[in-house]
Amino acid sequence: MQELRFNPLVGEWVIVSSATNERPTQPVDNCPVCPNSLEFHGGYDLATFDNRFPALSPLIEDVFQPDSRLLRNGLPAGKCEVIMYTSSHGLSVPNMELAQLEKLVEMWCERYLEISSFQHIKSIFIFENRGKEVGASIQHAHGQLYSFPFIPRRLELKANSFTDYYLANRSCLVCDLLKDESYGRNTIFETAGFMAVVPYFSRFPYEVHLYPKRHVASVIDLIASEKRDLAYSIRHTVRLYDSIYNQEFPYMMTLYNPPVNTGRTYDDSYHFHIEFYPPKRAKDKLKWMASVETGTWAFVNPAEPEEIADFLRKVEVKI
Ligand SMILES: [Zn+2]
Ligand SMILES: [Zn+2]
Repeated sequence: MQELRFNPLVGEWVIVSSATNERPTQPVDNCPVCPNSLEFHGGYDLATFDNRFPALSPLIEDVFQPDSRLLRNGLPAGKCEVIMYTSSHGLSVPNMELAQLEKLVEMWCERYLEISSFQHIKSIFIFENRGKEVGASIQHAHGQLYSFPFIPRRLELKANSFTDYYLANRSCLVCDLLKDESYGRNTIFETAGFMAVVPYFSRFPYEVHLYPKRHVASVIDLIASEKRDLAYSIRHTVRLYDSIYNQEFPYMMTLYNPPVNTGRTYDDSYHFHIEFYPPKRAKDKLKWMASVETGTWAFVNPAEPEEIADFLRKVEVKI
């Protein structure tokens, strides 16, 4: 059963999808995404395939219409894809070749372009969950893509913040943040095209954002040298993380691109970026999404972002 249900209390859509409950919770002995396995009959370099246990899918059967003045629902007409970074089971982001990660950035662009051509899709969210702490059930390096027939609430808030700022100031919010001395103080490293920052307003202790220095609205607008810099910046961030405790650091990596097919343009207002949310707050301690975070969206960050930025600048990469 799959259905979208609207929560009028906070104005957000919820995806009801019993398929996701079938997802395996334990890593299986035989990797299902290696070459010549469950998902692949032959070999591959990079690859995408439809998630077997999708939250959204292109089906669509009719959904039950509630006989109610207040309740409404909709079709979960979207797509959930798995993106394999490499066919090598032992590799992951920190020890992958830069050229392979550049190909991954190209694949993000390709998927984003193709999926945005479907007019009913309003938002494309590309991400990676790494580690069992954030629910990754497969160890083999991979990311995912969800395309939604609506704009998820936090993405809508973000797009609206960009638009409101642009209308008030005739400039881009992130471009201005990058010029702000206080914001730039928490830069942990930079390349010609990208900046890596522990944001002043971090929600997670080890949160890191990657921003293109040039105004770039979405991932497809990056030029070749920026794609290479992005590949480098992603790898370097994960190398720093893994060097903190000399162990694989769990994280969520999320790409922020503007909504699509809304009839509005975000070219001048939206600034593409990536946010990393690692759930660790110490070697053996996790930061949980508990009552305050889940119930109010107000995060309590137990670390001072300036101290974390200072610490990450000094971490010696051992990979
Ligand atoms: Zn594998
Ligand atoms: Zn900008």
